[in-house]
Parts: sequence; C-alpha cells; structure tokens
Amino acid sequence: MNDLEFRQQALDTKSASFCAAKWYNATIWLGSGMTTSCHHPPAHRIDLEELKINPKAIHNTVEKKIDRLNMQLGNRPKGCEYCWKIEDMGRDAVSDRVYKSRIYPLEALDEAYRQPHQEDVNLRTLEIAFDRTCQFACSYCNPAFSSTWVRDIQRNGPYERLVSDGRNHFTHTHDSAQLYRFGETNPYSEAFFKWWETDLHQTLQELRITGGEPLMSGETWKLIDWFKDNPGRSKTRLAINSNLGKEVDVDRLLEATKDISIDLYTSMESVGQQAEYIRDGLDYSAWVMNIIRLIQSKQLRGLHVMCTINALCLDTLPDLLTVFMRWKQEYGSDFPNFTLNILRFPSFQSALVLPDNIRTRYKNNLEQWLEQWTTSSLMHEHERNHVQRLIDYLDVVKTPHSETFEMPKLHSDFKNFYKQYDQRRNKNFVKTFPHLSDWFNHL
Ligand code: SF4
Repeated sequence: MNDLEFRQQALDTKSASFCAAKWYNATIWLGSGMTTSCHHPPAHRIDLEELKINPKAIHNTVEKKIDRLNMQLGNRPKGCEYCWKIEDMGRDAVSDRVYKSRIYPLEALDEAYRQPHQEDVNLRTLEIAFDRTCQFACSYCNPAFSSTWVRDIQRNGPYERLVSDGRNHFTHTHDSAQLYRFGETNPYSEAFFKWWETDLHQTLQELRITGGEPLMSGETWKLIDWFKDNPGRSKTRLAINSNLGKEVDVDRLLEATKDISIDLYTSMESVGQQAEYIRDGLDYSAWVMNIIRLIQSKQLRGLHVMCTINALCLDTLPDLLTVFMRWKQEYGSDFPNFTLNILRFPSFQSALVLPDNIRTRYKNNLEQWLEQWTTSSLMHEHERNHVQRLIDYLDVVKTPHSETFEMPKLHSDFKNFYKQYDQRRNKNFVKTFPHLSDWFNHL
C-alpha cells in the first residue's frame, strides 16, 4: 500500500480527519509542563493538579481528548492546520497525518477510533525535552528552546519593530519554558519517570529525546544509563535529537550507547555559510565530520536529517539533498534518511514570503533535482514525496500559515528581524544570500 492508498484505506475510511498521532504520539516539554500531539499543533499546558493523582495525564490532557472526539467525528482540530493546508492543495498531497499514523499497527488505529474519547491511552511514541540548554541560536528558533537565544535577549533586549504573529518569539526570555531551576524538584519530570518506571518502558515503541541540545542535559545521560543498567528490561527504541555541533561529545555518546542501538536525528537544510547563517552557532564542517564519524561507527540503527524549510534555505537545499544521496551511495539508503518539514512559524521566515520569481526559480531547481534522482533506488518513497510536496507547496500555496497578517507586514518583519540578527550575531545577510540581496535591499 503506498502512502496515498494508506490515507484512503486506513484513515479516510474512519473519518476525513483521523490521525493516530492524537492518541499514540506526544511531544512533552518537562521544563515548561507543555505538550502537543506532534510538532505541528501549538503546545498546551498539562494540568498539574490532575498529574498529582494520574501520571498518565502528562499525555492525556483534556485538550487532546476533545481533539480525539473531533477526529472521530470527522471534524478538523484547528491546531492541525499544517496537515489541512497540505491536503487542501488538492493534488492527492500526502500530509503528515499519514506518516504519523502508518507507523502503528492497523489494529491500533481501529482501537483508537473506537475507544471512548475520555479514556486514557498509553503512548506508543514519545518525544521528550528535559530542558532548553543549547549552544545554538538558530534564526527560526527562540528563547523557549535555546538558552543561547535567552542570552541574546538578556544581553541585547527584545527584537524591535516586529508586528506579525511571530513577534513574541523574539521579545522576551520565555521564562515559562523553564519553570524550575536546576536541582529543584520538577513535578513534570517526576511524573514522567514514575510513568516510565511503572508502564511506559513496557509499552512505548520509541522514546526520542529532544531539547535544546539534549546531549548537553544531564537528564539525557541519566536515561541512557537507565538503558545501560537495565539490559533487556525494555523493548523501547531509544532515539536522540542532536544538533551535532562541534561541542557535542560524539565519542562519549558512542561509548555510552555501545550496547544499545539508537537512532540519531539531526537538523540541516542548507550547506556551508548559508547553513551557518541560519543555524547560528553551527560549524558546518564539524557537523559533516560528526555525521561521518557516527555513520562509520556502524553503531546507529538509523541516521535521520530533518530539514526545516524556511525562506533562506532554498538556495542550497538541492546541494544538501545531493550530499545526502552521495552518502546513501556510500553507506546505504538509511544513512541518512531525510524529511522536509515546512516551517510555519514565525510566518515572516516562511518560504512563502519570497517574491514569485524567486520562489518559482527555487521550485524549478528542486524539480530538476528530483528529475535527476527520482529513479534512484536509494531514495525512500517518503523522501520522494517530501520533495514533491515542497515543489507543490512552492507552486500552489500563496499565503503563509498566518491568519490575519498580510504580506507587507511579513516583509517588514523579515527585513527588521534580519537587520537586527546581523548586528547581534555579527552576520551579513546581503553577502551570505547574494541571490536575495536585491529583493532584501528593496524591502
Ligand atoms: S498536525 Fe497532522 S500529523 Fe500532527 S496530530 Fe494533527 S493531523 Fe496528526
């Protein structure tokens, strides 16, 4: 069954909006006590009072239960706009509700659909963040997820003159993202470890640790040690997100996971200087060296690169995709796997703020790239589909994921933001992105 057939036969036969991620998947930020079903819907707060009597409430929040009911009835939860926008392109586009549902057995999908929406569900896949410690401060990230971003705001004050929906990302230090100081008891962490010890380690298929940069968090190493010290006790696959910056201790990771098979997820969406501009703190060559070191260790179950598609990465995205294909040729089709995830917020950094002629040029470049590689047996179906859906997205969807703000405001924010970013981070937009310089200068 291909992806589209799966959508038609396994999901749409239940309801036009059914997505198993709402039941079986979660991202949970223990530092802020927030959760969401996947990384697209906005996060919401976990009820601390309920958590005291039921650790499963860390995932089974009232908001998710209402969304589950809506999905059973075929209504579209508003937070899942990312998927509806893709599906409304009307080209049999495959949205993430397919990818995020087809990783579970068909019986589990039936069970979720039939189960009364008020009941608690055991997670099958979980992404968890312990804290926001991170040595990077990427342009599309913000202080809620990076301690280096916090320092930028503390040192230089809020970004000024931003008016669109993304402005609040950059105006304060997001103290609510770190409710408890290091060493203080965090009830969300306590609930997680309690649930982990009692049932989660038996039922969870995959546990993915994210951040910040999780390899800079002591809790991550504690969890890796749990796997080391409890061999055979859990079948949960362990996965770790890492920016693989030069500060990350890859040798320590390889030593600590010698007897545990892990999946490694990392992010990148362009190459060289442009990548270093977007992902402030990155040394692109060090990232490449770390990737090669990890692949050659043969210790990983899989290596996955997540590309966050924003306005600045499209210049060299095809070059990066070619790098991936060369690695696949050398190391096999899973080294790496890649996904293209379209950035929605902040809207002013979306690829859709680019003028038609530039966006069309990038679309054509991607089409040429796909034509060259599409018959390669090393490319997975989901990878081919992700490239195709980005081509369609650049072609069809003309409005960024924003409800009320029009293009002039997004353009004004784009210029204001990157001018301040250049000053604060000692960067140069015009020099780094010569193909965008005319447009940028005239904004
Ligand atoms: S955004 Fe899409 S993939 Fe995520 S929970 Fe909603 S429908 Fe599922």
